[in-house]
Amino acid sequence: MEKPFLKKNPQLKDYQQYILDIEKQRGLSADIFHYCLMIGEELGELFKAIRKAENHQIDHNSKIGSVDEELVDVFIFLCGIANKFNIDLEKAFRNKEEINKKRVWKKTKTS
Ligand SMILES: [Mg+2]
Repeated sequence: MEKPFLKKNPQLKDYQQYILDIEKQRGLSADIFHYCLMIGEELGELFKAIRKAENHQIDHNSKIGSVDEELVDVFIFLCGIANKFNIDLEKAFRNKEEINKKRVWKKTKTS
């Protein structure tokens, strides 16, 4: 099997195809619930990396990735979940932003 390759200046669909390719190459689980658990785990790692980057109190004995590394882990599983549902993320993004633009964004009062 050819090694997965992400072309230069990729579009979102290229990332999604790359994730499909690495799933095959690495023999990753195709189970959607596994992906849900993994994105949750990676979000936790991202938040921990942010706490570290923002000098919040953390356990310095635990292994913590950098914010950029953990963001990529979350992105990989986000693409993976989109792929499982045959969702074109770029199209979904554009559609959802059209909905979001019509929403009224108000600040909540703070007392
Ligand atoms: Mg991670």
